[in-house]
Formats: sequence, structure tokens, C-alpha cells
Amino acid sequence: MNLFLCYDEQMQEYITEALVLDKEEKGELDELVTLFTPHLGKVVAKIMSGKKITSKLSGHLEPGYHTHVRLIQKNAIHIGDALKRAMHTRDMSILRLVKAMTYEHHSDPDLWRALKEKSDGKKLLTIFGFDAESAMCYICNVREPAYFVFQDAMYCCNQCFPGTLSLNEYYKLPLSEKKENRYTK
Ligand SMILES: [Zn+2]
Repeated sequence: MNLFLCYDEQMQEYITEALVLDKEEKGELDELVTLFTPHLGKVVAKIMSGKKITSKLSGHLEPGYHTHVRLIQKNAIHIGDALKRAMHTRDMSILRLVKAMTYEHHSDPDLWRALKEKSDGKKLLTIFGFDAESAMCYICNVREPAYFVFQDAMYCCNQCFPGTLSLNEYYKLPLSEKKENRYTK
């Protein structure tokens, strides 16, 4: 489902499905929600009075939810309506990865498809142009790096990984089967 309505030059409405990537507080009462949508790409929208206990919208816009939303663009974008369809993923690292590696209002149909198919982070990184299979640590060139650092857009191994980074600054790759066996033996 995707619908685009245009009332006049000042105000537009979009009805779209979306994956909720993040939700954060904005001022006293409002919240900011980051969505990934099939046709608008990443969208940051305000939930007016989202922090109020009476907010009907905020509960439908938790990170990891697949929702249907009505977006209202009038200068900034805010949520007009939201309806949760399903919990899509509880893997917050995937959501952080998509949030960090996408631009607002750039659609990416391949990425949307991969997300719908619940692809893992390696697949997503490949879509972003950083093939995980041939990746090497950018400091020591070791194969099979354990991390992807957003700011540098580089892979990094366990040894070279700067421990000072916050969760929002890197993606930790899932261990390959080969490696996992090595660790459990
Ligand atoms: Zn290294």
C-alpha cells in the first residue's frame, strides 16, 4: 500500500508501510521516530505529544515494528496516523545499521526487499556496497573482520576495534559458522 496525496504546495500527505528504526525523545512532550519506507527511504517524523500517556500513536511506533503510517508534511514531517502490523525484528543492531547507512528521502527498493526478507547484516552491508565476504580489516588487513564502523565506512577486526565506540557507531557482524565452531571447540 502506498499513497501520495497533495492538498496544496504547503501540505502533503503520504500513506505508506514502514519499518520503525528508532524512536527518541524530542523536547518536553514530543518524540522523533525514524522510519524506513519502500518509496521514501528513511524518514524522520515527529510524534506530537508522543510522550504523553494518552498518545495513541507512540505505541504503534516502537523500534522493530512493521507499521502503516500516514505522514503529514508541512514544513517538517509528523505522524498523522499509525497502525502496528507486526513485530518485524527484535534485532536492534540491524535497525541501527540501517539507520546509520541510509540517507533521508532516498528510496532503496533492494534494501526494502532485503529487510522484508529478514536478511542478516552481512547481506545488508553488501547492499550498501560493502561486501562482507571479501572484507578485510582496514588497519591490519585480516580477513573475516568482526565489526563495521559507520563513521569510517570500514570493516575492522577484533584486535584493532576501538573499544571506545558507542552502540550507534558500529555493527558487530554475526560470527560465521566456521568461526563459531572454532570458538566452541
Ligand atoms: Zn585488524
